[in-house]
Amino acid sequence: MSKSIQAIRGMNDILPGETARWQFVESVFQRLMAGYGYREIRLPIVEKTELFKRSIGEVTDIVEKEMYTFEDRNGDSLTLRPEGTAGCVRACLQHGLLHNQIQRLWYKGPMFRHERPQKGRYRQFHQLGVEVFGCTGPDIDAETILLTARLWRELGIAADVRLEINSLGSSEVRRAYRDTLVNYLNQHLEQLDADSLRRLDTNPLRILDSKNPDMQTLIEAAPKLMEQLDEASRQHFEGLCRRLDEAGIAYRVNPCLVRGLDYYSRTVYEWVTDKLGAQGTVCAGGRFDVLVEQLGGRATPALGFALGMERLVALLDDKVVDSELPQAYLVANGEAAEFMSQVLAEQLRDELPTLRLLVHSGGGSFKSQMKRADKSGARLALILGEDEMAQGRVSIKDLRVDCEQVLLPQTELVSYLAASLSGERNATVE
Ligand code: ATP
Ligand code: MG
Repeated sequence: MSKSIQAIRGMNDILPGETARWQFVESVFQRLMAGYGYREIRLPIVEKTELFKRSIGEVTDIVEKEMYTFEDRNGDSLTLRPEGTAGCVRACLQHGLLHNQIQRLWYKGPMFRHERPQKGRYRQFHQLGVEVFGCTGPDIDAETILLTARLWRELGIAADVRLEINSLGSSEVRRAYRDTLVNYLNQHLEQLDADSLRRLDTNPLRILDSKNPDMQTLIEAAPKLMEQLDEASRQHFEGLCRRLDEAGIAYRVNPCLVRGLDYYSRTVYEWVTDKLGAQGTVCAGGRFDVLVEQLGGRATPALGFALGMERLVALLDDKVVDSELPQAYLVANGEAAEFMSQVLAEQLRDELPTLRLLVHSGGGSFKSQMKRADKSGARLALILGEDEMAQGRVSIKDLRVDCEQVLLPQTELVSYLAASLSGERNATVE
């Protein structure tokens, strides 16, 4: 036998059973988005490489070493999207969605980064993201934080995540701060690890984000950008803090919080958890007021966040009930019954469009069919045997509670099922 082919390292299959949690998160998110007036945008997975180079920044981890870039048959350089913002801005510009308009948008889908695969870090991973265009004030920064806070509450993980915020100020302030920081770090070169030495020339702010424990003292003592903020950015930040206070959202100002992408300015934030080990950032976002212009549009204020589905789903544990499990399993005993079972099932589906009904397939003894029914996770077995057929009836056995089997006229089956399954929950937090 030839060797079977395995998936690419860091690109995961999401198997039945696991998908319940994904669907749960996606459906709650989608409902919340509509509740806040955000519209979905669907974007290509492949874009021109140039788009990411120009937006994310040449000297970021992503562009330097994480992108899946290839030449297509025409010799064009294309890249599997490593994140959603660049494509979203590109699409908005291309279709004229930004001029004199406010856009509140959301997207979901796979992203690709050639990173070292480990728990919570994969090469194909999935994000849910939000981008807002055309809003200058801190109210919109707060709105995106409020809606993520609501998402955690609805998913039942509010106690597991906390919010960290910071301001990166204006680009002028960041440029000046960069010099201050490089000066400081140059005086402590012996304490820098290899990664940080490399970043010293290219992207020194990212050194603040280092997770290396040996560098934490150095980082904590570094001069803070927060102390050099320009007046407009300071007011913006205060406006955000006041709104979060008013809404009762707890947060920590983390002056070392910088983001891995170049395009951020002013507000940046992360929702982090201690429950997932080293990969603790579940959701990250911030303002990118310069990006639209950088990609050839008119200056347009913008901000957004992206949350990592894999990390979020890992936080849910077993809190979700599988909403795909069948509620009823139809068993047929005898050839005529087997023939009729599919007809009966179609009638039930006509009458009860939300019913999750699995019809036994493949024959076998009554006993083996009942075993399958039990294994399917369904609560009820509907039994169509020769006797039932002759009488126009169906037997119903509760597979989860020990009680008498009932025999019902087929005409009463719909109302019986509707009543007995109505109390059942779909996927919800327990
Ligand atoms: P990290 O510091 O963890 O590398 P990042 O700054 O590269 O994160 P962003 O680009 O801001 O991450 O992406 C937003 C979110 O997407 C992250 O907070 C995380 O939840 C998720 N994410 C990013 N990269 C990966 C990955 N390789 N595998 C799984 N999830 C990821
Ligand atoms: Mg990263």
